[in-house]
Amino acid sequence: MPKVLRKLFGSDSGPPLLPDNLLPDLVQRKPILLCLDYDGTISEIAREPKLARPVDKVVEVLRLLAAHRGSVETALISGRSLRDLRSMLPVPPGIALAGVHGLQLLDATGKIEVARGVRECRDDLEVVRTWLDHNLPANSGFIIENKGVAIALHYRQAAGPMAHYVRDSFEQFIIECTASLRARHGKMVIEALPKIASKANALRALWGRVGDEYEPVYFGDDLTDEDAFTELAARGISVLVGEPRRTAARYRVRAPADVVRALQALVTTLETSANVS
Ligand SMILES: [Mg+2]
Repeated sequence: MPKVLRKLFGSDSGPPLLPDNLLPDLVQRKPILLCLDYDGTISEIAREPKLARPVDKVVEVLRLLAAHRGSVETALISGRSLRDLRSMLPVPPGIALAGVHGLQLLDATGKIEVARGVRECRDDLEVVRTWLDHNLPANSGFIIENKGVAIALHYRQAAGPMAHYVRDSFEQFIIECTASLRARHGKMVIEALPKIASKANALRALWGRVGDEYEPVYFGDDLTDEDAFTELAARGISVLVGEPRRTAARYRVRAPADVVRALQALVTTLETSANVS
C-alpha cells in the first residue's frame, strides 16, 4: 500500500510489538490505570463463551497487581455481564470490573453501578428477545446470551451461509425496529446493545474514578475494543492482542500469554521498587 494511503487508512500489517520495557518504565514515572479485556486478552477464545477460561498465571498476576494499588489500578472491561465474568475467574479483591461494555460497573470496593439510561431500553430489549424466539432456526448452532441489559447472538457454531443470513437479518431488525439499541459486531457474535454502551465509556468512567494523574493502558483483542483504542489516541497506551489487523491500537502483542508476561514484568518492577524504597 502506498505510504499516503497507509497514513489515511492504517495498515493491515498492524502496529509494532509492545516494547518489553514500556510498561515497567512508565510505572516508575506515573501511576497506571490498567484496563484488560477478558475474552481473547487474558483468556483464549473458546468454541463456546463458557469454555473461555483464564490463561495460566493470570489470576495470580492480578492478585499481585491488586497489592500495588496506588501504583496500578487494574480493571477488567468486558462485553460479558458482571455475573458471567465473575463465574469465569476468581477476581481478586481490589480489581475493578466493567461488564456489558460499561453498562455495569463494579469498583474496587465492591460497589455496583448500572449506567444511566439502561432502564429506557427495556422495551426494545424485550422486542429483540421476541424476534429471536421467532426467527432462529431450531438446532442450527446459534447461542443466545441474555445479559439483562443486552442480548448477544453467537453464531460461531452455525453453518456459514445460515449464520450470515441470520446475522444480517438480526442487524436490520435492530436498526429498523429498536430506537434505543444498536447492533454491535464482535468475533462471531452480534449483540443488541443500548446505544449508550461502549468500552470507551467504560474506560472514561474508570479513569474518572481514579483521577487524571493515572496513565491509561488498555489491552484488548476484539472489534469492540477499538473505540477504547481510539479514546487513547491522544494519551495512554493501547495494545491489540492477537494477529495483525487494521486497528487504532498503538502496539500489539501476539497472544494472551504475552499479556500475562507484560503484567508479570510490571509486577517485578513494582516489587523491586518497593524493596529498594
Ligand atoms: Mg475480547
